Amino acid sequence: MSVRILEGKVFAAQIKQSVKVEVEKIKATQRMNPGLAVIIVGENPASKVYVANKHKACEELGIYSEVISLPESISKEELLAQIISLNENPAIHGILLQLPLPEALKNEEAELLKAIHPDKDVDGFHPVNVGKLAIGQEHLVPCTPAGCIKMLELANVEIAGKHAVIIGRSNIVGKPMANLLLARHATVTICHSRTADLSSITRQADILIVAIGKAQFVTADMVKPGAVVIDVGINRLPDKKLVGDVDFEQVKEVAGAITPVPGGVGLLTIAMLLSNTVKAATLLHVKK
Ligand code: NAD
Repeated sequence: MSVRILEGKVFAAQIKQSVKVEVEKIKATQRMNPGLAVIIVGENPASKVYVANKHKACEELGIYSEVISLPESISKEELLAQIISLNENPAIHGILLQLPLPEALKNEEAELLKAIHPDKDVDGFHPVNVGKLAIGQEHLVPCTPAGCIKMLELANVEIAGKHAVIIGRSNIVGKPMANLLLARHATVTICHSRTADLSSITRQADILIVAIGKAQFVTADMVKPGAVVIDVGINRLPDKKLVGDVDFEQVKEVAGAITPVPGGVGLLTIAMLLSNTVKAATLLHVKK
């Protein structure tokens, strides 16, 4: 059986195309431009690259984008004031606080994320949006798991009735992923660092989602023949090569479909951020 390689660029292009159509429709019918504000605190080089990529992607699709660069020395109060002013700014429909925050603000992360209005929370991290997702009222959903689901749907992978196993229980990937799959009628198992006999569970998966942060952790013997394997992990090997949490070369010999790293679901994360921004703009306009 030949494996299907799920190329992120193909699906990201499809999502961006439909976002572009939506943006044009909003501009024509509602006479407004969806707007995204990204706040970046400090000088983290990786964060700077991510933020620049988000800004560029917005420009490509005609979304207004503002990058607010703040010094590492900023206080929690000043940052809160910045967020509140964006909540009240009618030109901004989506607000994203780029993580990680500098060390001095790490403990304030939850409070800062909660200050973003849930209707502008395009990262989907606000407790209101987390709760809505958990009770099956999807509003603004975290971009990476939303991208994984979108990829499965665009690739016509059947989800209902399938056994989906997720390795990783983080708030940004594992847990929202579980809720999204459950809402689409999969039977869901979440595994994590304390799971006993991990392989015996992963071998039952029709759909295996891996979000651990450990290079090439999932090997061929952990995968059921024909399974769909989605690799969320991004890891750098000592020789600087970028790899996922799945041993791609081994697992592609067993899987029915697999995402590569780089070039897999990572490309859908930004596409879903743009999609969330347009969704927020539409919902906020309806509420007015
Ligand atoms: P995290 O560190 O918050 O969580 C990792 C999870 O893996 C934990 O729940 C832990 O229990 C589990 N885990 C760790 N060791 C394990 C083991 N030996 N067996 C089973 N489970 C184990 O990580 P995260 O933020 O969810 O990110 C996971 C990976 O996904 C990272 O590589 C990260 O870089 C990547 N990521 C990619 C994107 C993207 O846009 N593609 C977005 C977010 C995260």
